[in-house]
Amino acid sequence: MRRRFSIKGKLTLWFTSFMALTAALCLGLILLVSGRVAEKEAFNILSLTVRGNLTEVSLENGALSLSPDFRFYTNDVYMLIYSKNGALLSGQTPPSFPVETELENGVTKFVAGGDGDFYVLDFWIPSGWEDGVWLRGVLRSADSGQMADSIFTIFSIVLPFLILLAAAGGYLMARRALAPISRIADVAETISEGQDLTRRIGLPEGRDEVSRLSSSFDHMFERLEQAFEAEKQFTSDASHELRTPTAVILAQCSYAKKHAGTAEEYREAIEVIDRQAQKMSLLISRLLDMTRLDLGTQKLKKERTNLSEMARILCEEQDSGEGGISLETQIQDGVFAGVDPFLISRVMGNLLDNARKYGRENGRIILRLYTDHSWAVLEVEDDGIGIPAEEQEKIWQRFYQVKTSREAGSGLGLGLSMIRQIVLLHGGSVAVESQPGQGSRFTVRLPVS
Ligand code: ADP
Repeated sequence: MRRRFSIKGKLTLWFTSFMALTAALCLGLILLVSGRVAEKEAFNILSLTVRGNLTEVSLENGALSLSPDFRFYTNDVYMLIYSKNGALLSGQTPPSFPVETELENGVTKFVAGGDGDFYVLDFWIPSGWEDGVWLRGVLRSADSGQMADSIFTIFSIVLPFLILLAAAGGYLMARRALAPISRIADVAETISEGQDLTRRIGLPEGRDEVSRLSSSFDHMFERLEQAFEAEKQFTSDASHELRTPTAVILAQCSYAKKHAGTAEEYREAIEVIDRQAQKMSLLISRLLDMTRLDLGTQKLKKERTNLSEMARILCEEQDSGEGGISLETQIQDGVFAGVDPFLISRVMGNLLDNARKYGRENGRIILRLYTDHSWAVLEVEDDGIGIPAEEQEKIWQRFYQVKTSREAGSGLGLGLSMIRQIVLLHGGSVAVESQPGQGSRFTVRLPVS
């Protein structure tokens, strides 16, 4: 397989090439600017020196006169004095200076010599109408090749270090910037290989793209873990809870095959089998509902719902008077909330069922519905057997039943856990207050909006 460059490698390469290019451009610029600056500086020195010497030269009665301040060589400038017709009168031309260079009054020029270049500036110093002398300043131009050489030498020493530094810095920066991505990749690999579903990337919260990506991944892993856990839980709960009715059915079948003789005995066996099968069927559908809620496949179909109306209808349907239990309602009119009506009616129905199941004979149930600030509050209160304090936390767990209720064989221990799940999905809360022997009150709070 063709091995490709990693993003880190590519970024480092790009960064290093960019740095090298920038350094080369800098070098070019330095050479250009330094050449210009050196030239300007040379022009200045030449001009100042020649002009400074102008008053020191004169021609008196045809004889050249130089003041004591006149310098033939100062500031690297050679001073030469020529006669009117161009004959050198005084001064020494620098070696390799082309002596035939034309004299031009007040003009600075660049003259190429045999062994280096020169800047030349001439002035005509008149004497009387006809006569005069030429003053010439010659400055050897700084050896630009030599300067370029030294700049090159400095660069050739510094540049490799600079590139190395750029490469190392670029690599470190790229590694640092990409570290979260590597972490995401590592965690995703571990999870996809099925090694550890509890692993999370866990980058600190931030607004940048990588933090958002990481938290989306973590969220996805969370859901994945939940889905696996829910599946595991479902399998273990289902097999555990189905074992009892299945065993009863099998026992009844073998008993009936061996011992039942009369139609009555067969009917009794079939009734037991029927009851257990009904229980199994209810159990399976409840478990499926809960798993759907767990997995979020049962999407909330929220709509603005008149909870007051829903509570009244449910109470009317359920007020069977069974066990002599009376159902009292204190329902505030027009309590609306944005909820999934199907699921919330199951919450109300289940709480009423429980209140009746665990209520006292000839007792009473009170259903209250009212708004409290931004909450719709539903209370279902009974005066039944109550729940011991140490059990009140546990009743929300799946399949948990208080010992007495389990022995009574009523229910599956799934109702409250489903109620809690539905309420939490709606962003609400559910709580119980209870005194054994005196009764229980379940309070559900749902956000109105
Ligand atoms: P189920 O009623 O099917 O057993 P639930 O999840 O609805 O399952 O309830 C769990 C347990 O909580 C019940 O077994 C019962 O012991 C207790 N419980 C629930 N509601 C009440 C109530 N109103 N009064 C007393 N105990 C209750």
